[in-house]
Amino acid sequence: MAAHSPKGPLRPIRFQRRALGPKDVAIKLHYCGICHSDIHTVRGDWGPIQYPQIVGHELAGEVVSVGSSVSKFRVGARVGVGCIVDSCRHCVECEAGHENYCLNGNTQTYGSRDKDGSITQGGYSTFVVVDEDFVINIPNVIDLSEAGPLLCAGITVYSPLRRWGISAGKKVAVVGLGGLGHMAVKLAKAMGAEVTVFTTSPEKIDDAKRFGAAHVVVSRDGADFSALRHRFDFALDTVPQRHDLNRFVPLLKRDATYCRVGVGKTVDTIDVGQMSLVLFRNAIAGSNTGGIRETQEMVDFCALNNIRPEIQKIPMTGIDEAWSKVVDKKARYRFVVEING
Ligand SMILES: [Zn+2]
Ligand SMILES: [Zn+2]
Repeated sequence: MAAHSPKGPLRPIRFQRRALGPKDVAIKLHYCGICHSDIHTVRGDWGPIQYPQIVGHELAGEVVSVGSSVSKFRVGARVGVGCIVDSCRHCVECEAGHENYCLNGNTQTYGSRDKDGSITQGGYSTFVVVDEDFVINIPNVIDLSEAGPLLCAGITVYSPLRRWGISAGKKVAVVGLGGLGHMAVKLAKAMGAEVTVFTTSPEKIDDAKRFGAAHVVVSRDGADFSALRHRFDFALDTVPQRHDLNRFVPLLKRDATYCRVGVGKTVDTIDVGQMSLVLFRNAIAGSNTGGIRETQEMVDFCALNNIRPEIQKIPMTGIDEAWSKVVDKKARYRFVVEING
């Protein structure tokens, strides 16, 4: 299912994936999660793109064919693919396992120029061909329908929670309870943290508690947070829109970090008063998905701790409608496309 213009409906196209190289695996896709990034990309929010473009970077399926020197996967293996399908592999970031920060520009699952010059096409698709080094093993206990959302939403919040050392007893604020936020609550809770959710949607209070939040704050404009000043060891902000951080930074303890992972429009800036930052030596940070090794670690962590995304399955013909719901903040909490045809 491809986008043919920034606004028009998705329509099916037939196209050829590349021939299987020695290190490639061919994957028959069963599911693909819908990420807000898919919509931003097609709408041109992150710059102009070439159409037709197939998006989707939360892929799950089974290996149906392997190249001559593939060693990690066999036919029949249950696998997933996230946001990245290649990188330079020799820069310091790649060598450290941070392919997501490749200094020479990694190859994204869709909308990137691949090594053969073609534009990569994503997971709203029946098959994909990917180098085995960028394929994630999905343990048997995780249903394939629930695997995809781990590979963008899951890793995007897992990576900063690990980077900032979230562990037993830490107090974590999760700002925004959508696709990313709901995974952040479950993961931080499993790491032993006490989680407080800030949401603008009062109807999500019960969900937040069910996901493991100890406290839920309805963060409408003008809501009073003063009782929470200097309470948190870390804040993870999953809101993709510009919003006032001066309300949240004073809730951090001394030296604590406020990390943003949501990106709406690239032209958006962050406004924080200098006083908010300097008074308690706080830091504003960002984080961008995770490397392949860390993604596998996160999937295994989810298998071990029984963490799954909250999903609603939809048919391939229902993607346009699901996109509207994502934009209207009506996803609960991740749409997953059942791939057929
Ligand atoms: Zn995504
Ligand atoms: Zn690199």
